Amino acid sequence: MQFNAVLDQLKLYEAGKPIELVVREYGIEAKDVIKLASNENPRGCSLKVIEAVREEASKMNLYPDDSMYELKGALATKFGVHDENVIIGSGSDQVIEFAIHAKSNPSSKVLMAGITFAMYEIYTLQTGGKVLKTASAQHDLAQMLELYKANKDVAIIILCIPNNPLGECVDTKDVYAFLDEISPETLVIIDGAYQEYASFKDSAKKIIPSDIIAKYPNTLYTGTFSKAYGLGGMRCGYGIAQPEVIKALLKLRAPFNITNLTLKAAIVALSDESFVEASVRENFEQMKAYEAFAKELGFEIIESYTNFIVFTFDKDKKSAEIAQKLMEKGIIVRNLGSYGMNAIRVTIGTPEQNARFFESFKTLYM
Ligand SMILES: *Cc1c(COP(=O)(O)O)cnc(C)c1O
Repeated sequence: MQFNAVLDQLKLYEAGKPIELVVREYGIEAKDVIKLASNENPRGCSLKVIEAVREEASKMNLYPDDSMYELKGALATKFGVHDENVIIGSGSDQVIEFAIHAKSNPSSKVLMAGITFAMYEIYTLQTGGKVLKTASAQHDLAQMLELYKANKDVAIIILCIPNNPLGECVDTKDVYAFLDEISPETLVIIDGAYQEYASFKDSAKKIIPSDIIAKYPNTLYTGTFSKAYGLGGMRCGYGIAQPEVIKALLKLRAPFNITNLTLKAAIVALSDESFVEASVRENFEQMKAYEAFAKELGFEIIESYTNFIVFTFDKDKKSAEIAQKLMEKGIIVRNLGSYGMNAIRVTIGTPEQNARFFESFKTLYM
């Protein structure tokens, strides 16, 4: 059967391997498998969320409130914007999908960093649009601006602040200077999936959505409950932009795109910021152990503003092999081979999980 020709160029997104797969394939008990591959919160989520979702479970027969009044209101309050500045998605992934589908087309281009979140490219190719990447793997705003000026047909620019899968983070003042040079007709998506981490580590990296959308009405800020809030399995994210942008995105949204339980979880999660703060604090305490470990073993890392860290290897070591051997020991990490790198990305786990990673890695690597 023939499908749309744009699908021919598309590859399937390779998600982090689930714990169940390691249990099935290597016969390791589930309790002994640790997953440091998808940047999930190793502390779980707020206990208040679990409690609230349990209570909400009896309402499964009912469709959710499609206006998402309460969650939009809570997000609007948190970010100092109005309800009409907010869109909710099944993960921020879905908001990014709406934005790219709303604006990209077969005669336009989407500009992004050399190595960045794989879904940007996939959504762009779905529209028949072209992907334009900087030669630099990490975000280099000067290179981006040069490419932008050299290509008259850039419909969207995507900045991942901080960047997944590499972990680097551009300074907010440089983002503002960059935005000064961009046409109001170009949509700039600022993916803040790890902003809770970056802004904790260094206030110079903090993006304030209300400020950026006021100064630059062509920007869309996206955030998620999947990382610092520990709700990856609930699938909830949001976008913040001027009403003109939000209205366009809403045209692509199917009704009831998130569940009752998800709405409840997100609302309660927002009311327990102390959980997020403790998670982020512990993340960077544990990050120090990773940095020390890399130094001890003598290989390179990229300074990270997120809840993961990238280890890059010399030619004599193969990242695919290292990831595979770790998996056989029940530790799932992300091989970055598919990005053309000889590197692995490791999510910062609990102190116990990290200790096990260090021990296993050492026996493999030395
Ligand atoms: C995890 C992540 C997202 C969104 O995840 P959702 O679970 O869909 O909210 C978006 N962008 C980046 C860069 C991510 O790492």
